[in-house]
Amino acid sequence: MPATAGDTLVQVSTIDALIQGIYDGSFTFGALKKHGDFGIGTLDELDGEMLALDGEFYQFTADGVAHQIDNAAETPFSAVTFFKSEKSARLGKTRSMAALQTRLDAETASENLFYAFRIRGTFSMMSFRSVSKQKPPYVTLPEVVKHQSVFKLENARGTLVGFRCPPFVKGINVPGYHFHFISEDRKSGGHVIDFAVTEATAEWDVLEKLQLLLPSDKAFLNADFTTHDEKALEAVEKAPAAN
Ligand code: ZN
Repeated sequence: MPATAGDTLVQVSTIDALIQGIYDGSFTFGALKKHGDFGIGTLDELDGEMLALDGEFYQFTADGVAHQIDNAAETPFSAVTFFKSEKSARLGKTRSMAALQTRLDAETASENLFYAFRIRGTFSMMSFRSVSKQKPPYVTLPEVVKHQSVFKLENARGTLVGFRCPPFVKGINVPGYHFHFISEDRKSGGHVIDFAVTEATAEWDVLEKLQLLLPSDKAFLNADFTTHDEKALEAVEKAPAAN
């Protein structure tokens, strides 16, 4: 067995539940912190984007501003782990998120495991978004992201936090890469749409286990997950800048 056996991705709810508009928090951040010090997600009522780094949990509200998250606050969807840097690579100029993904694909052994990535450096361009707090009855996530706020920084120093998930997690999480960004001063950030790297260091942790913490509220219990809408996921994850 490799020395890394045992690293676990712990996830609250499923991506399809979020896409369908199940936004009520089901676990507190206090409880989530017992499962990880690093990760991404969102908050109760889809109130912005979430990023956890070094045990600090941040909310990026729709204006892209970072706030510390209270232990009593809840999440409807998050994925966390205890990050341990197992391998790293120096990254030079990289023109896009797609180009970086090709590079990271080549660095990692298999697409059939989970990987946590922490990428710190300078980005000649960083484009990210956040979403607005919703009110019930909730609309679906593809509807919400039509009104997302998109931000673009130049020569931004900061950290990408994210995961690469295997193709077989369809419906549960996002197959492929999913990053959130926080600025070096930890004052702003959001869900990453695209970026270009000036120079950065990528570190990663291979995760061989997946643990799901499923909600037990009515909305989740009564939802229909028999089909998976690939196009809805695409719209949510890769939505181009609306401006
Ligand atoms: Zn995201």
